[in-house]
Amino acid sequence: MAISDFPRYPLLFGPSPVHPLTRLSEHLGGATIWAKREDVNSGLAYGGNKTRKLEYLVPDAIAQGADTLVSIGGYQSNHTRQVAAVAAKIGMKCVLVQENWVDWPDPLNDRVGNIMLSRIMGAEVRLDPAGFGIGFKSSWECALEDVRNAGGVPYAIPAGASDHRLGGLGFANWALEVEQQEKELGVFFDTIVVCSVTGSTQAGMIAGFAGQDRSRRVIGIDASAKIDETREQVARIARNTAALIELGRDVRDDEITVRPEWAGEFYGIPVESTLEAIRLTGRLEGVIIDPVYEGKSMAGLIDLVSSGEIPRDSTVLFAHLGGQPALNAYSALFRQ
Ligand SMILES: *Cc1c(COP(=O)(O)O)cnc(C)c1O
Repeated sequence: MAISDFPRYPLLFGPSPVHPLTRLSEHLGGATIWAKREDVNSGLAYGGNKTRKLEYLVPDAIAQGADTLVSIGGYQSNHTRQVAAVAAKIGMKCVLVQENWVDWPDPLNDRVGNIMLSRIMGAEVRLDPAGFGIGFKSSWECALEDVRNAGGVPYAIPAGASDHRLGGLGFANWALEVEQQEKELGVFFDTIVVCSVTGSTQAGMIAGFAGQDRSRRVIGIDASAKIDETREQVARIARNTAALIELGRDVRDDEITVRPEWAGEFYGIPVESTLEAIRLTGRLEGVIIDPVYEGKSMAGLIDLVSSGEIPRDSTVLFAHLGGQPALNAYSALFRQ
């Protein structure tokens, strides 16, 4: 089946906006940088990349007769907040397992930002501060079982909607959308910079772009600080998605690039380059990025352009995947 043949439940406003980052481009003195804005792709709870992925999971949930979306993430997960919004929109219930993925001392970490929004939208939020021990049923399995025991039909959505048969389709379709927008704008983005953690965003892009006439570079910037796992995940999902949309050839190793240098030591903990990227993007463009994901991928873009590794005559597309609500749990970093 071609990508256009898969059932898609519309959740976005339409194609996400694409615009140049003129002052950032001038400041770096190099490549021409544009952004494509998944942070404003939808009217559902501040949007984001997971909303785009969920367009392809929702028809499957409906076909299975589900009445409750069940998913998992960290306390400040953007993904679970988007699942909560989508559940509200389509009239399903929502159960979210929120694990303590990040050792971040903000006392409001489990109260503000994403987790607050999920509660506002009516999701049942289950905090799991300890994770799970050997011999105990995981909180994830408990959540699914509780829904069943109450007579409901759960639909399980893995972290980031990535490790799911349909998880790569949203961004395979994004690649088509980019090609269409390029025709309208008269530009060609030879390089895409995108943040990678659970992997299906970059993987979907790779699978989608692989079927196009002109080749381009997709540079993933790891934000998980576990580069081997991220690479493996991106490669596997890219290949599965390519097979699913009948690309008709294998995805080559050289089409899969994930770079480790801007992740810092831990997922969810910003480093100096992250904070510099956040301030620079805010001050030059009035564009807000977050300390967990986009601050790290923007730090990568800044270095790659400054060093000339992305050449001066390049036209670069920065995939802004959303994530700003988490900033509320990081206020201590920006007091001056
Ligand atoms: C989830 C997320 C990412 C990473 O996308 P994956 O598909 O998990 O690799 C990047 N940025 C933001 C804001 C996210 O919420």
